[in-house]
Amino acid sequence: MKAIIIGSGLGGLLSAAKLSKAGYEVEVFERLPIIGGRFTNLPFKGFQLSTGALHMLPHGPAGPLAQLIEEIGANVEIVRKKPIAVIRIPRKKGDTDYKYGYKDLLFENFRTPFSVFNRIKLVYYAISTRKKSPSGESFEQWCKAHLDQDWTVRISDSFFGWALSLKAADVPVEEAFAIIENLYHYGGPGVPMGGCKAITDALSDIIQSSGGIIHTSSEVTGLKIKNGTVEGVLVNGECYLADLVISDIGHTATATLIGEKTGITGMEDYKRKSNNLKPSAGIKICISSDKPLIGHGGVLLTPYAKRVNGINEVTNVDPKLAPEGKHLTMAHQCVHWKDVDNLEKEIELGLEDIKDIFAGKEYEVLLIQSYSNEWPVNRSPSGADLDNRTPIPNLYVVGDGAKGEGGIEVEGIALGVKKSMQDILMR
Ligand SMILES: Cc1cc2nc3c(=O)[nH]c(=O)nc-3n(C[C@H](O)[C@H](O)[C@H](O)COP(=O)(O)OP(=O)(O)OC[C@H]3O[C@@H](n4cnc5c(N)ncnc54)[C@H](O)[C@@H]3O)c2cc1C
Repeated sequence: MKAIIIGSGLGGLLSAAKLSKAGYEVEVFERLPIIGGRFTNLPFKGFQLSTGALHMLPHGPAGPLAQLIEEIGANVEIVRKKPIAVIRIPRKKGDTDYKYGYKDLLFENFRTPFSVFNRIKLVYYAISTRKKSPSGESFEQWCKAHLDQDWTVRISDSFFGWALSLKAADVPVEEAFAIIENLYHYGGPGVPMGGCKAITDALSDIIQSSGGIIHTSSEVTGLKIKNGTVEGVLVNGECYLADLVISDIGHTATATLIGEKTGITGMEDYKRKSNNLKPSAGIKICISSDKPLIGHGGVLLTPYAKRVNGINEVTNVDPKLAPEGKHLTMAHQCVHWKDVDNLEKEIELGLEDIKDIFAGKEYEVLLIQSYSNEWPVNRSPSGADLDNRTPIPNLYVVGDGAKGEGGIEVEGIALGVKKSMQDILMR
């Protein structure tokens, strides 16, 4: 059996490696000259920056991605260090920013600023809401209805801004609780030693050592579809045949490759839904310093900043991600859809936050990267993901445009790949 994979992002490489191990003949086509998509390193002034991700797996060594790469046989060390997250709050109750000083609260104590009554309500509603069918309600609406405190919106905007690049107002309440449940189940984040590239390179080695081929600088421009099935892909005017095609480029771009008038049942509905997906956008600010700025290997959530949702300092886990004696700190901020055309203003606000958060400390801004539209933070906002299957039975979509329920970013990709592989390998 032959499988063709469109795109060498994490989702594509995970699928290709898994299928190679299962005995498939595999061929990957990547349009860029490098592999890894938004999950590889970007060497810059001796630092290992990244093409996308902040060198962090949301559930560290115990999560769905770590489990899948172990199952495939990729040898990557993933390290989780305590504290997993810390929340920066103003020193004085009632302040709304960090100008007059701050204190840090361990993430596990996030309920502390709530009244006792609200803490009890939070546990009760979390359990009962999770069991209900989809309500169309957002997590912010739910918070405002049940926990009448400014803190709820601040901490959830900061957490979901960091984890999903979404505001709490844009996360369906059921998805929010599935994410929180997974956090308790799998635990908090970890850093792959060597950064994102350690994972994508290990997967590429597995594919190639099993006889698979990865073509770079090779854009897929169309699909060959006959009698309701995919027979292959078109690259540079040539047709490559396969029994199975897996697309790692999201449903919207896959629907474009399918083209018009296929006569396939369900295609119109699929195209309409694919075109309605709104990718989540964000800005990453990469910072260098001689001394640590946050001093731990977890996440610093910043619910009182204007734009920055959270910050990590990965060199506290893997010092090799920066030149000797330097630290690499990365701040992430969600960009709301209404602000996507105003990135310069959003960056300005992010930089103002960095000044406030690291007031009195010495640092240098290395690089500012923005992500939207076709190179987004997530191709599908969490909670709106479509299934991995398409109306064409041997065409699947993997990656962050088709994540599994409750799966934050690459953990959601791993859940989606697992689901697709079960479907394909059990046929
Ligand atoms: C700023 C930022 C911070 C993030 N932080 C984290 C984090 O800390 N932890 C985490 O878990 N996740 C994080 N993410 C999300 C994570 O990086 C992505 O979810 C993940 O890398 C997406 O992988 P993918 O396989 O879905 O797609 P991609 O990485 O986009 O891969 C798709 C590949 O397909 C190629 N391609 C596209 N069209 C074609 C075509 N027609 N033919 C051939 N090739 C094609 C592209 O060039 C690309 O290489 C972050 C993302 C961003 C942007």
